[in-house]
Amino acid sequence: MTDYVFPPPAPASLAVHGSPARFAVHRIYCIALNYAAHDIEMGGSGRTPPSFFMKPADAVVAAGGPQPVDVPYPSVTQDLHHEVELVVAIGRGGSDIPLEQALDHVWGYAVGLDMTRRDLQAQAKQGGRPWCVAKGFDASAPVGPLTPAAQVRLDDAGIALSVNGQPRQASTLARMTWKVPEIIAQLSRAWALQPGDLIFTGTPEGVGPVQRGDLIEARIDGLVPLAARIV
Ligand code: MN
Repeated sequence: MTDYVFPPPAPASLAVHGSPARFAVHRIYCIALNYAAHDIEMGGSGRTPPSFFMKPADAVVAAGGPQPVDVPYPSVTQDLHHEVELVVAIGRGGSDIPLEQALDHVWGYAVGLDMTRRDLQAQAKQGGRPWCVAKGFDASAPVGPLTPAAQVRLDDAGIALSVNGQPRQASTLARMTWKVPEIIAQLSRAWALQPGDLIFTGTPEGVGPVQRGDLIEARIDGLVPLAARIV
């Protein structure tokens, strides 16, 4: 048995719908600006080439039961934004995955929130600096329970988010610029995908700020909804 200088932490993990098993998280990849209307609201052209960033695996906040999961309001921001996203969970790794085989690598799907320090992201963009502090902070990736891929059809599923019951984001997965197979094929050229990887697939238009005490309810038709309380 390896003698570590301190005990390695347990992996971050997600709940699995209808099962006591947990899905151990390896890495979290995210694609930026993957819905035309959101790209435009962020000042883009409406068709930005696939652009990836990452969050640390332990940024996951795993939601489970019917109670909202607590998400702490992060430090050093005055403008925390919600972004509802389809999260793809990889069950089989690979490099240079062909488009037509990409979906064979998917284990399941969940609803996730790509929480964003929008003020720091704007400053980073303006200065041409990395986004890490804006996207990869602690507890920046709340994710609901995973549904196995075989149990759901998502092609044109609705995706929506409300804050305190007020609708903020509403669209359909059919409006993703780069679809799940394209994202997997592209990502796997730059990184070797591994079982346990999560991919946040981008958010539709309507992103906006949340405050402490707010209740975020996020849903994608066919998946377990996600409720999060900002605390
Ligand atoms: Mn996002």
